[in-house]
Amino acid sequence: MIPASFEYVRPASLDEAIRALADGGDDAKVIAGGQSLMPLLRLRLAYPELLVDIGAIDELTGIADAGDALLIGARTTHYQVVHDPLVREHCGLLAEATATVADPAVRHRGTLGGSLAHGDPAGDLPAVILALDGVLVVRGPGGQREVAAGDFFVDYLTTALEPGEILTGVRVPKLGQGWGYRYEKFHRTAQAWATVGVAALARRSNGQVAEARIGLTNMGAVPVRATAAESAVAGADASAAAIAAAAAVADEGTQPPADLHGAPDYRRHLARVLTGRALAAAAGV
Ligand SMILES: Cc1cc2nc3c(=O)[nH]c(=O)nc-3n(C[C@H](O)[C@H](O)[C@H](O)COP(=O)(O)OP(=O)(O)OC[C@H]3O[C@@H](n4cnc5c(N)ncnc54)[C@H](O)[C@@H]3O)c2cc1C
Repeated sequence: MIPASFEYVRPASLDEAIRALADGGDDAKVIAGGQSLMPLLRLRLAYPELLVDIGAIDELTGIADAGDALLIGARTTHYQVVHDPLVREHCGLLAEATATVADPAVRHRGTLGGSLAHGDPAGDLPAVILALDGVLVVRGPGGQREVAAGDFFVDYLTTALEPGEILTGVRVPKLGQGWGYRYEKFHRTAQAWATVGVAALARRSNGQVAEARIGLTNMGAVPVRATAAESAVAGADASAAAIAAAAAVADEGTQPPADLHGAPDYRRHLARVLTGRALAAAAGV
């Protein structure tokens, strides 16, 4: 289908983009890589009257070392994230998971900020940023504010972004010594969305799993942490038995959707199995 007609602007600065969004009101929308928005426009599931293209705003692109964290610009593409040496060194889970997003063509255009702002619980990166304790940096007419990943994803395709606000970047704490990670994704066909995904981080110390963080993809209307599994494994010996005990409660508190790719019970099963695999790899068991 052909999208409904819309006005299009491509501002060169963030301030200009924020002004254009404010002028457009409820009928204006940001477009970044267009990999999620364009299909919605073509299906006429979205019909904004103004598109504000942030593709020419250089300050939204790139990855900077900010001491104990990396600051990743919202318009940084998936391709850039996957190949960036800082991301690989300090936040390897993000590089590993981003490499599973779609195919090379989509990864060259799609952006980290777009994946997060879209708020799709089936997207791989929201659960990863949640597990990494990322903080989202947002700018709008009222100035700049920071939102913890745990507060950013509000409901299905709904985030804490207020009308007129632009996600400018994500602050991702560096993983220090002793941390291991793994993103396990189950999908029916290669280069497809996750039926379920599990982003696991584990810090080993003296033969124990001192701490674990687990984000679940597509196990509810928003990405969620597998808190019961995190608590079960924290402080336990880094053993197959401890991992299995934690994996057995990975789906606790989740509300997985039902769709053509799987029923809720099937997704619960997948979450347990994938958590076992991801945690074992992250903890080096
Ligand atoms: C064939 C195909 C397969 C895919 N497979 C996967 C997959 O396996 N896993 C996965 O996670 N994703 C997948 N995707 C989605 C892909 O990752 C998109 O790149 C991503 O979801 C959106 O990024 P974008 O820059 O293209 O955002 P856009 O499509 O430009 O925007 C998406 C939404 O976010 C808003 N937005 C974008 N940037 C900002 C910003 N900086 N501030 C405020 N709002 C903003 C837009 O207004 C829009 O509502 C797939 C897409 C396609 C086409």
